[in-house]
Amino acid sequence: MSIDLPPGSRLARLRPPDGVRRLLREVADFAFASVCAGCGLAGTALCAACEAQLVPGVVRSGSEALPLRAGLVFDGVAAAVLRAIKEDGQTSLIRPLRPALAAAVRDLRSTEDRPSRIDVVVPVPTSRASFRRRGFRLPGILARGTGIPPLAALAYARRVQDQRGLGVDERRRNLAEGLIATHRGDGATALIVDDVITTGATCAEAARALRAAGFRVAGAVAVAATRRRA
Ligand SMILES: [Zn+2]
Repeated sequence: MSIDLPPGSRLARLRPPDGVRRLLREVADFAFASVCAGCGLAGTALCAACEAQLVPGVVRSGSEALPLRAGLVFDGVAAAVLRAIKEDGQTSLIRPLRPALAAAVRDLRSTEDRPSRIDVVVPVPTSRASFRRRGFRLPGILARGTGIPPLAALAYARRVQDQRGLGVDERRRNLAEGLIATHRGDGATALIVDDVITTGATCAEAARALRAAGFRVAGAVAVAATRRRA
């Protein structure tokens, strides 16, 4: 569905706004996506059996300073659905992932010694390149569905290499000081939102940048987390 245009070209300015593009994409999914993203069953974008696999089971990791919570293990149907959203642009599949994120938020809020009040949810930023490729920012869409005011308070401070295929140490080096806060925190409590937690390096860098700008960081939540992390 997506057409890649050189940035700044005349045609690029004709792109409809995000919301309209997402709606068009969802209509297209409904009309044409004839196989289940989880199992390949024909006739539906996600069959009932696969949707049942998305019942949250909270994964806890991170540290006391930065607790991480995800609603699902990044595996099986959850991984297939996230890939269908990110690689194939099937944004209609975001809705069935919302309970997983909500469970992660609830679990984090119930953790002892955590501030129960969260002022803002801050999505992990998406690189310009992947935004151009996908036409949407998944962490931003997820953040808007949490019921907590979203604030796009983070941006890339410099060009950062795509994290895919990098190991734990490489990811950490790649991201070091890679993010910058675009807003002042003034003591507000922020919750970081990402789609998938892999090594936790992105969330750690997001927390560092937010704290440097005066935010308190309650932790980070995601739809899914990979099973083994260092
Ligand atoms: Zn299925």
